[in-house]
Amino acid sequence: MSKATLTIDLDALVANWRALDALSSCETGAVVKADAYGLGLASVAPALARAGVRKFFVALAHEGALLREVLGPGPTIVVFGGHMAGDTTLIRDHDLTPLLNSADQMLRHTEALPGHAFGIQLDSGMNRLGMEPGEWAAVRDIALAQKPVLIMSHLACANTPDHEMNARQLRVFREMTDGVGVKRSLAATGGTLLGNAFHFGLTRPGIGLYGGQPFSNAKPVVTLDLPVIQTREVAQGETVGYGNAWTAPRASRIATVAAGYGDGLCGALAPGLLLYAGETPCPVVGKVSMDLITADVTDLTEVPEFLRVLSVQQGIDKLGALAGTTGYEILTTLGHRYERIYKT
Ligand SMILES: *Cc1c(COP(=O)(O)O)cnc(C)c1O
Repeated sequence: MSKATLTIDLDALVANWRALDALSSCETGAVVKADAYGLGLASVAPALARAGVRKFFVALAHEGALLREVLGPGPTIVVFGGHMAGDTTLIRDHDLTPLLNSADQMLRHTEALPGHAFGIQLDSGMNRLGMEPGEWAAVRDIALAQKPVLIMSHLACANTPDHEMNARQLRVFREMTDGVGVKRSLAATGGTLLGNAFHFGLTRPGIGLYGGQPFSNAKPVVTLDLPVIQTREVAQGETVGYGNAWTAPRASRIATVAAGYGDGLCGALAPGLLLYAGETPCPVVGKVSMDLITADVTDLTEVPEFLRVLSVQQGIDKLGALAGTTGYEILTTLGHRYERIYKT
C-alpha cells in the first residue's frame, strides 16, 4: 500500500465509550455528528451500537437519515438542530427525534407530525440553541402535555472544569426542569467529567469517544501514516518549498510525504509539526502544500516508507494546539483522500 492511511481503532473507541459510561450511573449516549467527528459514521456507529449505545446524537436531520440506514430500526436518533422547515419527511421516514429549539419549531413539529417523538432543547446560558427561560415558561405546560422523550441543554465551558459558568448553567437548567418527570441530559464529554450533579438521566459524550481532550484518560483512536514519495539531499543554504520558507542550516536530507492542507493538515501546523519514524521525530520544514509536506530526515539512518503524523506521541490535541485550534477541528477536517482502515 502506498496511500496516506488513516487507521481508526474501533476497539479503542468502544473502550473510551465504556470508560465514560462507567463514570456515571445513568445512561450514556454517543454523539456522531459530522460523520462521527470525521472518522466515518458507517463504521463508528455500528461499533457503538454493538457496545450497547441506544441513543445517538447528530446535528442535522440529513445525518440522522444516513445513520438510520446504517443502524436500522431500534436505537433513538436525536437531532440537535431540531425540526427545520423541509425536514418533516426525513424525520418521519427515518424515525428521527428532533430536539425542538423554539416555540416555532414546536408548532411546526406538532402540526406536521402529531404524536411523533420529540425532545426539547433549552438554553441555560450558552445562547446558541434552545428555548430561553422565558420562552420555556410560556410553552412548558403545552410541551410537557405532549410527552417529550428528552429535555436537554448544553454547557458552554465544560472543558474548563473550574469555570464558574458550569455551576451557573447547572443551576439554570435545574430551575427550568426540576420536577418535569422527563429524562434530562446536560453533559457532553466535559460535563461527564464534572461529576454526578451534571449527569441527570443521560450523558452524551462526543470527543472523548474519539480520543480527544478533555477526556485525558482516552485511548488514542487515530493514527495517520503518510507515504514518503521522494527524498533528496540539499546543501547548506538551499531552500525548501513555497516562498523559500526554510533554508537548510546544514547539509540535510529532506523527505516529501503525500498529504497536505487539502487533507486537513493545515498550513498553521508548520513550523512545529513532527513526522515520526518509529520513535524518532522529524521536524516538518518549509510550508505545508496542498498535497505535500516536507520533513528534515537528516538524522535518520534509514528513511521508512511511511512517516507517522498522528499517533500516541503526537495526538489530535497536539495538532490542534499547533494550529491554534482544537482536536475537534483537526478530526473533523481530516479530509477524504486517505485510505481508511478500521481496526477491531
Ligand atoms: C457536539 C455536542 C456534544 C458532544 O460534545 P463533546 O464535547 O464532543 O463531547 C453534545 N451536545 C451537543 C449539543 C453538541 O453540540
